[in-house]
Amino acid sequence: MCGIVGYVGKNQNSLSVLIEGLKSLEYRGYDSAGIAINNQGRIKIIKSVGNIANLERKLDKKILSNLGIGHTRWATHGKPCLKNAHPHQVGKVTLVHNGIIENYEKLKKSLQDEGYKFKTDTDTEVACALMDKIYKETNDKLLTMQKVKEMIEGSYALAIIFADDIKNLYAMRKDSPLIIALGKDENYLASDVPAILQFTDKYILLEKNEYAIINALNVKVYDNNFKEIKKQILTYEGSREVAMKNGYEHFMLKEINDEPMVIKATYEQFINKNLKELIDNMPDLAKYNNIDIVACGSAYHAGLVGKSLIEEYANIPVKVELASEYRYKKNFGNDSTLTILVSQSGETADTLAALRKAKKEKSATLGIINVVSSSIAREADNVLYTKAGAEISVATTKAYLSQVLMLALIAINKAFVNGNISSKEEKDLLEDMQKLPQEITSLINRKDEFASIAKQIYHNNDVFFIGRGIDYALSREGALKLKEISYIHAEAYAAGELKHGTISLIENKTPVIAIVTDETIAEKTISNIKEVKARGADVTFITTESLNKKYAQSDFYDRKIVVPSTNKFFQALLTIIPLQLLAYEVAKLRGENIDKPRNLAKSVTVE
Ligand code: GLU
Repeated sequence: MCGIVGYVGKNQNSLSVLIEGLKSLEYRGYDSAGIAINNQGRIKIIKSVGNIANLERKLDKKILSNLGIGHTRWATHGKPCLKNAHPHQVGKVTLVHNGIIENYEKLKKSLQDEGYKFKTDTDTEVACALMDKIYKETNDKLLTMQKVKEMIEGSYALAIIFADDIKNLYAMRKDSPLIIALGKDENYLASDVPAILQFTDKYILLEKNEYAIINALNVKVYDNNFKEIKKQILTYEGSREVAMKNGYEHFMLKEINDEPMVIKATYEQFINKNLKELIDNMPDLAKYNNIDIVACGSAYHAGLVGKSLIEEYANIPVKVELASEYRYKKNFGNDSTLTILVSQSGETADTLAALRKAKKEKSATLGIINVVSSSIAREADNVLYTKAGAEISVATTKAYLSQVLMLALIAINKAFVNGNISSKEEKDLLEDMQKLPQEITSLINRKDEFASIAKQIYHNNDVFFIGRGIDYALSREGALKLKEISYIHAEAYAAGELKHGTISLIENKTPVIAIVTDETIAEKTISNIKEVKARGADVTFITTESLNKKYAQSDFYDRKIVVPSTNKFFQALLTIIPLQLLAYEVAKLRGENIDKPRNLAKSVTVE
């Protein structure tokens, strides 16, 4: 998610290379950024919270510098704030780090016992202090890197400057990627190819157990026995856009594949061991009597899932409003209302206007936002970040999923405070939550199954989605995904509402995607499915493993998709995955421009 760039060259332009390189890595997602440069023999560190533009404003562009390292941080240990932003500096060592030092607590304790003082909450500063300590002992940089490698556990890519050698950059890695790119009289370090493509297309892959020393004219890579290795020089032949897709055919598919990681990153901000942490780490939600969720598009659909969960399990009335409507109507908010604004970009014009209106009406406001320091994030009383990383495909997938999770966490928080979750349920819930990344991965791995269902659907002009409760909310998102990218007319209906009009549209072979995951109302929806089946509909039945046991032999569907059963708070996070992949596969079969559908923009900053 985060990114590293390094520069060393005769051209003295490290500042602009680092900034341009970091901008190219923005798509990976980050919450703060920083650089360290050689400024006339001294190392100057400049950091900022939020986007690269904030960092750029702090720079004196006139500084000439032969060497520097830069970083976009995606916080894992310690809040996203100025002091925790990289680079970190301890003694003679300045470095940036991607990844996680898993044993940092133990190392920190022993370094503290030896007198090291820490200024930040990060795992990275511990690695930096360790490197400083060992360098003091050995006075040998390669040996220091090797010893540090033996002592730290976890994942890392490190770009390092030693204060007594500011002609060279040093680098090492394990699990987090790092490349060395080759220019004329200048060389670069980067966590991936897009960061350097504007300067060069030649690069070397640094591997585990290798150490690099890089200056303007030479790149030397050593193995673990300090023997120099002759590395193969690669030439990147694709475009920058292809490089950013990480090998996937479309950004949408890449972003669906990011979902397991996004879900983990989103819940880990609040919960690791118990639900009490949720209350400690989230704004105080206990004091509100009613909630308004205001959003547009998929974020509105996430709000509908949130409403079902919050009303059902936390026992508070929730209204879900389209921001474009809310901003011009009477809403009855007051100081016991919490208005939740949901937006990926945090710049959605209607949602921003709705936020301002809610504030005027004295309602408390909470943003559920993906882009750090965006307008809604800044103006709302409180903000929760969804940790989806940058989303490039116009049709949202991972950001939607993380919004649903955030609203589920709000429902859990409230339900827990209200005493509606017993300690046995708490244990099950935490276990189920920790299984989600693996379960989402297993659904994504069933892509071919969804691709073959797409073949049955893609030639149609109309597709209907039906469900009740949360399954209706998911139907609406499934229909939106399909129409956005495949241009097939898709409509979602509350299953019980069909016979009040829409069922007249059902003919022989009309595709109906029926979602049934809620056991309490399954029988009712199944009656509605039978009604459409009796009129010739071609039914794709989406259900859970536990309900499937009951309906395995039924004849009211033509095919089915069975998703793992999980906790009631999380079921929507699994059920939506086949709908996202189905829309993707249908659009692909129709040859549409999946990542940039016609007439649509990613961030809707106009009314
Ligand atoms: N674990 C480090 C931190 O939280 C690095 C995170 C990153 O990879 O950006 O600062």
